[in-house]
This record gives sequence, C-alpha cells and structure tokens, in this order.
Amino acid sequence: MVSNRVKKIIEEYDPSKVTIATLCSHSSMQIFHGARKEGLRSLGIAVDRDTKFYDAFPLARPDEFIRVKDYAEIEDLADELVSRNAIIVPHGSFVEYMGADRFGNFDVPSFGNREVLKWESDRSTQRRWLTSAGIKMPQEIRDAKDIDRPVLVKYSGAKGGRGAFIAKDYMEFKMAIDYTQQHTIQEYVLGTRYYFHYFYSPLRTNGFKLRSGGILEMLSIDRRDESNIDELYKLGSTEELKRLGFFPTFVVTGNVPIVIRESLLPKVFEMGDATVEKSKELFGGLVGPFALETIVTDQLDIKVFEISTRIVAGTNPFVNGSPYSDMIESGLSTGRRIAQEVKLGFQLGRIEEVVS
Ligand code: AMP
Repeated sequence: MVSNRVKKIIEEYDPSKVTIATLCSHSSMQIFHGARKEGLRSLGIAVDRDTKFYDAFPLARPDEFIRVKDYAEIEDLADELVSRNAIIVPHGSFVEYMGADRFGNFDVPSFGNREVLKWESDRSTQRRWLTSAGIKMPQEIRDAKDIDRPVLVKYSGAKGGRGAFIAKDYMEFKMAIDYTQQHTIQEYVLGTRYYFHYFYSPLRTNGFKLRSGGILEMLSIDRRDESNIDELYKLGSTEELKRLGFFPTFVVTGNVPIVIRESLLPKVFEMGDATVEKSKELFGGLVGPFALETIVTDQLDIKVFEISTRIVAGTNPFVNGSPYSDMIESGLSTGRRIAQEVKLGFQLGRIEEVVS
C-alpha cells in the first residue's frame, strides 16, 4: 500500500513530534479536536480563507496554520509539511479541490490507502467493487430511452448532491440533462436515507474481527439535510410545483444524527465487512474511515447508492461521541479515532500499514 517514497519519509519521522494536518474545511474542526484529545499536534492548511471562526472554538483550533492563495500551491508545501512530521488526513474537500491526480503524487504521508481514490472517484468502479462484494445497489439504467420508472440522474464527482435531478420518463430526462457532463442514471429508491460511518483498523485485534485480520467499527450514523428536496413537500405536489418553476434539488446543507433499529445492525456489519474484504482483493485494502450511503426500503432492504472512502462530514455531529462510539470508548469521534490509529501505528512499529 505505502509507496517507497512515503515509506522512507515516515521512517524518518519522530513519533513524539507527529502533526495531524488537513485542509481547513469539511471536517477539519473535528480532526483537529480529535488530534488534541489524543495529545498530537495539529496544522491547518488554509487556502485563501478566513480562519477567524476557529478562534470561536479553541479546542478545535489547530496549533498552527499554513496559508496559501490557491489549491495548486498545496503541492509546494510537501517539504514544509514533512519537516513538521505531518500526516495528512484527506477529507472530501481536500481531494476534490486539490485534484485526485495531484493528491495521488503528493509526497507527504497520508492517512489511509490512496489507491482507493481511483476506485472511489468513478461511479462505475465503485459499482464493480460493491456489487462484487455482494452489496445491493440501486439498479443502473444505461440508456435513457429505457427509463420506465422514477430515476435519479447524477453527475460525476462528490459535489454534495449538486446538479442531481429526478426524471420519470425520457422526456423529463431530455429536458434536464446537461450532456457536457458525465452522468449516471439510477432507479429512484424510495425509503429512508442512512449514512453509516465505519472505521477499519488493521492494527487493533479487539472487536468485530474480519477474516483477513483487523477489526471493523461502526462509529456513527447520520442523514444529510438536503435543500430543497427535504422541505419541498410542504408546498404541494411536485407536478404542481414544476409548473410554477420549482424543481427538487439535493444540495447538502447539514447533517442529522440517526440511530437505526437494532435488528438491522447485523446487516450493517455484514456490508462493511464485505466492503473491506473485497477492497483487499482489489487494491490492497481500505484503511480507516469510510461511509456507505444507503436507502432502507419498507422491506428493510438496504441499498447502497455510494461509498465515501474517507472521513465524511456526516461524522461532524459526533465530536463528543455517538450512541455507537460511546459503547466503544466514551467521547470517541472519527477524528479522534484517526489520531489514535496514528499513535498505535507508531507504538507497534506498523505505521506503514495505515498511511500511504
Ligand atoms: P449522491 O450524489 O450519490 O450523493 O446523491 C445525492 C442525493 O440523492 C443523496 O444524498 C440522496 O438523497 C439521493 N439519492 C442518491 N441516489 C439515490 C437513489 N438511487 N434513489 C433515491 N435517492 C437517491
């Protein structure tokens, strides 16, 4: 998993000076807060952004900021970050803004396996990974002319749901599609949306064990608040609204904590387990946080419409623990869990297994 270049860099690190670094955005406050709780230093990379709001949250303010004007300049920070014994924690915005290619070649140790980005960034490889792991996904419709039920049309990349639209037939599809962007068409699954936040540790041995080693945790669950679809029903039927020029949109604006029926937990662990085991077969394994984004139907079927292979912003409601993580360790957030895994990696002399 770890490249020779990164392996060499991390071998030179002084474990007592390790610094958790990330881009000031997305889940950075949780990541810095978690590092602090674990006694690690933290560093925020601020790209042309006001960082004063961190002063309002002293426990989530990084020990130090590095400021640059443009995302392209992050590449030039590699030596500076390495000199501070930095380990990058990639989050959705980090990879999206820096660019997957640039991030792939960035010579600073990064938490987790970067190989996963190639599988995550493309919806067709995601589908290959998950379905070959036996996970149920919404049916894909390859030719728009075959639309025979409500579908959701999505564009590539993690854009927080921006641009996705519903179509009920080919005519509606044609009216709304932007052919200049790559898109996929999925059956619209009716049900409740739950986003499960997992953490796979190759290092720990106590817990929900996987066949190939390591343990799987499920730290929390959220549902995204999406504007305007979540509130649209208050204004009348969607047909009527369309006539008035209101169309449903799926722009993520916030996150709401969730607990699920306890009887669904075996299925939730089965899905996480299969996802990790298949990732080991396909590309040397997923490490650390990932999320399965699902819809639970009234038949209690869980359909996964997407995977995120890094910390997701849906973990942010749980900076001081969740109803699940509190049963592992009191006050455990995903950000804190990442810091713990970094520390454990150094303690066990196995840090190369959790960075790349
Ligand atoms: P995505 O871009 O895959 O994150 O999808 C954006 C939003 O669309 C999600 O947060 C869900 O609310 C919704 N969604 C995605 N896929 C489906 C689906 N197959 N059926 C119903 N809703 C979906």
